[in-house]
Amino acid sequence: RASVGPKYLSGLNPEQREAVETLDGPVLVLAGAGTGKTRVLTTRIAHILSQGRARPAEILSVTFTNKAAREMKHRLGQMLGHAVEGMPWLGTFHSIGGRILRFHAELAQLKSNFTVLDVDDQVRLLKQLLQAENIDDKRWPARMLAGLIDGWKNRGLMPSQVPSGEAAMFANGKGGKLYASYQERLKILNAADFGDLLLENIRIFREHPDILRQYQQRFKFILVDEYQDTNVAQYLWLRLLSQAPSSTSPRLRGEVAPQSDAGEEDSPQTALVETPPHPDLLPASGEKEKTKNICCVGDDDQSIYGWRGAEVDNILRFEHDFPGAKVIRLERNYRSTGHILAAASHLIAHNEGRLGKTLRTEDVEGEKVTVTGSWDSEEEARGIGEEIEQLQRQGEKLNEIAILVRASYQMREFEDRFVTLGLPYRVIGGPRFYERAEIRDALAYLRVINSPADDLAFERIVNVPKRGLGDATVQMLHDHARKRRVPLFDAARAVVETDELKPKARGSLRDLVAQFDRWRAQREVTAHTDLAQIVLDESGYTEMWQKDRSADAAGRLENLKELVRSMEEFENLQGFLEHISLVMDREGGAEDDAVSLMTLHSAKGLEFDNVFLPGWEEGLFPSQRTLDEQGRAGLEEERRLGHVGLTRARRRAMIYFATNRRIHGTWSTTIPSRFLDELPAANVEITESKGGSAWGGTGGYGASRFDDMEAFGSSYSTPGWQRAQANRNRGGGRNGGRSGGFEEEAATFSSSSSSGPDFGSF
Ligand code: ATP
Ligand code: MG
Repeated sequence: RASVGPKYLSGLNPEQREAVETLDGPVLVLAGAGTGKTRVLTTRIAHILSQGRARPAEILSVTFTNKAAREMKHRLGQMLGHAVEGMPWLGTFHSIGGRILRFHAELAQLKSNFTVLDVDDQVRLLKQLLQAENIDDKRWPARMLAGLIDGWKNRGLMPSQVPSGEAAMFANGKGGKLYASYQERLKILNAADFGDLLLENIRIFREHPDILRQYQQRFKFILVDEYQDTNVAQYLWLRLLSQAPSSTSPRLRGEVAPQSDAGEEDSPQTALVETPPHPDLLPASGEKEKTKNICCVGDDDQSIYGWRGAEVDNILRFEHDFPGAKVIRLERNYRSTGHILAAASHLIAHNEGRLGKTLRTEDVEGEKVTVTGSWDSEEEARGIGEEIEQLQRQGEKLNEIAILVRASYQMREFEDRFVTLGLPYRVIGGPRFYERAEIRDALAYLRVINSPADDLAFERIVNVPKRGLGDATVQMLHDHARKRRVPLFDAARAVVETDELKPKARGSLRDLVAQFDRWRAQREVTAHTDLAQIVLDESGYTEMWQKDRSADAAGRLENLKELVRSMEEFENLQGFLEHISLVMDREGGAEDDAVSLMTLHSAKGLEFDNVFLPGWEEGLFPSQRTLDEQGRAGLEEERRLGHVGLTRARRRAMIYFATNRRIHGTWSTTIPSRFLDELPAANVEITESKGGSAWGGTGGYGASRFDDMEAFGSSYSTPGWQRAQANRNRGGGRNGGRSGGFEEEAATFSSSSSSGPDFGSF
């Protein structure tokens, strides 16, 4: 036990070492990207354990994702030289909150096996409530209410605490009441939503100080990564747990109602102060109030969850909230090369509300950040695909390549491209193309055609679209199938010959069986792509989405088209389905060498040698919606997102923008992101797309699609970017024809874009 492995401490710089070794009292590590904050946290745990200061189960360690938690455990094992058994309290806020809630479920009127609802479940439940209240779902969509409730929960507000002004925002003042009845319904269903996992913890801690004290005593050390993105509820939860159990004052130190914001009067902070002191919590006389050994690490420049209620102020208030806190700054970036770090620092310097930090690297200058323009998003995907193959040929590992997108719909084109190229990839933080609901539905039809015994597939689509074959019918088919030991499809064929079903359901099921028989017969004479289209149309599946009014319906129809298109590469249906099952099967193979595809938001804390950043266009990035909804603050958050993206790269950062993009089925002309203007000329290189010619037309894919390129060009002044691109094409060389500096060209663009969208007001 005495083996204080200088091994794990020896690689650290003096500041990092101080952060690791200052075990007593509150510590805040405030430092930029790649400075080793996460590494400090992991080493700190190793240190605590090897010093014998706490057992694994006495350390509360909060990471931002489950993946990060697994990673941390793995690194710990490496540092300590043995696997770390049981760190039950190493995880995300949600997973730890959920775990605590299961222990005390009865105090939240739940059973310990409660279900955690996802957003779809949540919306479905709210729809029912709206119906019961006779509230028009069109005027007051359930999704909007779900968003409001989520926001309240993120701020730690119980139904009774929702400020009346905010409750009024929904259905003429019914918001608060609906929130309350939603909570009641959840209890009846033995269910909790994500927000509850922490909110119910907070409630239990407040109402049962003895329970709170148990946890305060248990957690000898608390560690929090990505502290800049904690929201009010997470903050309150941490504050409660971080009070030293023996001496906690019921009035939390530094607990003040936020500023003068009148609307916030009902905020949980105030509520917490007003909670009557529990006798057990009164400070022992004369004893000095103190807080636990809490260590938070964060970076205000990487705060990217403001839209989800994160309060970067938490980090600013740390010293105030945790008196005597030691604040440690780390300045050396160990991740990125000089050019990448300079580009990222220069970009973020355009934000105003910053603490300001020094970041330096002792790494080589490395390659410049590249910026590549493409004609459209397909060319962008093709270009990046080729670039990746090139990197692969140079010996780069796919695991060290990531594509970070602003919006998840951008992923589809990359996934298609990768499937075509046979390039292994994984999607982090969301479903892959073939796992999306509409794709699975379509595949289910094809599977039943291919194999009538595929019960899972048949059950999936028997009533999709709705054909009046509800649960009762399916149950009956199951009974039949079990009794006769036949597949569901055969049971269906038999049942329609009896009078066991009501006439309507029977007719409907008979039609379905007949349709499948017909499709199977057609299979012999029709190309499989045509057959797929026929099936989607005749089954009413396409129509179902055409009639759907939800925002993502158009995207789903697009996906279905893509699916049919992707089948062209296979000889027949059988071959295609085999391919799909292989693709699906590869999921979860974490050791596989594969390109990572994810949103910028999910990329937080991660690092890759090669990072592709596509879609740097106005409207997409920065996102128009964020700008519309949050104005300047939104713009700054988008810029931080760009900063996060760039700082994920160790050796290469490659930015792309397309001049035409198809968003939910409609093409629109775009202009390059203003963030490109904000990159420093000295660290950036403009390159040409490898996927084809964007400008000056070599008769590539783009040009044939848009015969009237001229018309496009003249509909607004030609941005400097495009001229630069055109010049280069004329000049031939990689950098030929480029005279002025990068920012000069960008400036030309800004001043000549008057007929484009107006964003001069920022
Ligand atoms: P982010 O803000 O992006 O989350 P971070 O501050 O958490 O970044 P880490 O991920 O901990 O940074 O570290 C970045 C990289 O630098 C990692 O690969 C890490 O192993 C490496 N690193 C950190 N400190 C040192 C050190 N003292 N010596 C060598 N490498 C280091
Ligand atoms: Mg980190």
